[in-house]
Amino acid sequence: MRFRTRFAPSPSGHLHLGHAYSAACAWHLTAETGGECILRLEDIDTTRCKPEFAQSILDDLAWLGFAWPKPVRVQSAHFDAYSDTLSTLTGLGLTYRCFKTRRDILDEIARAPHGPGEGPDGQIYRGPRDPMSADEEAERLARGESHAWRLSIDHCRDLLGKEFDRLGFEVMGEGWRAAQADALGDVILGRRDIGTSYHIAVVHDDALQEITHIVRGVDLEEVTGLHVLLQRLLGLNTPVYRFHPLITDETGKRLAKRDRAATLKSLREAGLSPADVHARLQAARPTG
Ligand code: GLU
Repeated sequence: MRFRTRFAPSPSGHLHLGHAYSAACAWHLTAETGGECILRLEDIDTTRCKPEFAQSILDDLAWLGFAWPKPVRVQSAHFDAYSDTLSTLTGLGLTYRCFKTRRDILDEIARAPHGPGEGPDGQIYRGPRDPMSADEEAERLARGESHAWRLSIDHCRDLLGKEFDRLGFEVMGEGWRAAQADALGDVILGRRDIGTSYHIAVVHDDALQEITHIVRGVDLEEVTGLHVLLQRLLGLNTPVYRFHPLITDETGKRLAKRDRAATLKSLREAGLSPADVHARLQAARPTG
């Protein structure tokens, strides 16, 4: 199997040292294996992503000396493909329309007997106690009410039976890991504003682009089990994963897009050379 990985930033801000670190992890592993690393722009969140940030990502990566095959896949040009992927899951009876607002969901979770759960996207929604009747659904659709599409974990369990709990994936250098595919509950796969979601787009594109290894930050460890479930449901290969630690500032805080001082743009404007940035990445590398 030829090694093929990707760096897949979202152009919702300028890249900072944390992103550069992630890119460096993917690129170095590629160099070691003699494989290929592609760049993909994950810009489906049209409210937050901006073309000027996409350009700035291309400029910053080129400045750092990273090269990748062209053309670069830009996700916002492929909404139809993501919609088809979601339809496949809907055709299998694995999704449902959710008309609830964020507020409704939070209230419902707060009233739940076992207390609220926390996930990377906030609270975990475990699904409705009773499914909505076909009449109510038709009425709400006729009224033009907007809805999101959620994955039904119960229906996934019904479909896969015992296999559901046996899903897993390989972590480079560590071996097999159980997927815990239900950890995030009934996640939104089709947002009401854009009709798709990060989970659908990323799983679709990793398969389409024949990614064999996914190098991503530990902050995305929790969503990986869901991605493995989606790959299984869609009949796609599961890549091998590697999770890299996140680099932090001097106070130990994780770098965020709002930390202007750490953006590659500001470091470049402050007179740093690409070699200086690479040295910083090396120094910022978490130990242990
Ligand atoms: N686009 C995602 C992000 O910027 C990362 C993609 C992934 O590794 O799945 O956080």
